Amino acid sequence: MVKAYRPNTLKEALEVINKEECLIFSGGTDLMVKNKKWSGVESSFTKPVIFIGDLKELKVIKKKGNIVNLGAGCSCSEIAENDLVPEYFKEVFSSMASPAIRNIATIGGNICNASPAGDSLPLLYALEAILVFESTNGERRIPIEEFILGPGKSAIRGNEILREIEINIGEFNKVYYKKVGTRKSIALSKVSFIGLAKVTGGKIEDVRIAFGACGPKVIKVKTIENVIVKLGYLDEKALGDIKKMYSKLIVPIDDQRSTAHYRKNVCLRILDNFLMNVK
Ligand SMILES: Cc1cc2nc3c(=O)[nH]c(=O)nc-3n(C[C@H](O)[C@H](O)[C@H](O)COP(=O)(O)OP(=O)(O)OC[C@H]3O[C@@H](n4cnc5c(N)ncnc54)[C@H](O)[C@@H]3O)c2cc1C
Repeated sequence: MVKAYRPNTLKEALEVINKEECLIFSGGTDLMVKNKKWSGVESSFTKPVIFIGDLKELKVIKKKGNIVNLGAGCSCSEIAENDLVPEYFKEVFSSMASPAIRNIATIGGNICNASPAGDSLPLLYALEAILVFESTNGERRIPIEEFILGPGKSAIRGNEILREIEINIGEFNKVYYKKVGTRKSIALSKVSFIGLAKVTGGKIEDVRIAFGACGPKVIKVKTIENVIVKLGYLDEKALGDIKKMYSKLIVPIDDQRSTAHYRKNVCLRILDNFLMNVK
């Protein structure tokens, strides 16, 4: 039998993981699948498990000006139903999984699982979210882009818990989110895309573009976004040039969900739709 901890506070949880290597269990929707050996048999764990899903310090959602802080233990449903988050967040979080999974699956778990198909990731990359970790040594802040190192690999340290995600939601007036899956929900993404832009008097003043599930990590390229903002307007030639830049970077794989060819074509078409709408 594996040892299990159910701390009452974040402080207590941090003290436990500082002394002993534990498996952090939030909603468990990824962990239960990952640790399942075969159908009909309960998942088994090789390390002590610490349950953090009920910690109220991880359930806080707050907003001050353009800064939104989402507690890492907030479920997809809690985020989708919260009035402090912009409408497009709701679209992202309510198209993940099924209602039952959404009620327990957390944003922290989606990030720390570091799957290229994690549906919250393109949104968080696009908004250049800062992850705030806590350990008994204090707080560590790290941009999401630096935290995720590859499929299933992250820069988390053994004694840390992701406490919250800090997001500058900016002032985007053009938003385009697309999740392409076998079904509208209850399906992992074949491809996902988010495009955000602030367009004033026809001029692009800020733009963010992120592709999910089409490479080992989310594709978001600041240098291309800067080119678009510098241009301010996109004529036919600029549109073609931008698409070529992304085309070189989108190198998906074939897997059980889709083919590389399909993924790449869909990404470029979605990008085209978004850019046509902001130009
Ligand atoms: C049927 C089904 C459908 C799904 N559909 C989708 C989908 O459409 N889109 C999608 O993106 N995902 C989907 N998932 C995957 C999963 O539900 C999500 O990734 C979910 O957000 C994981 O959250 P969790 O709280 O359950 O994570 P857990 O399983 O508890 O943990 C996942 C990982 O994160 C770590 N972790 C969790 N919280 C913290 C924290 N606060 N600090 C440090 N480490 C932490 C854990 O140690 C573990 O390594 C699906 C899963 C299932 C079973």
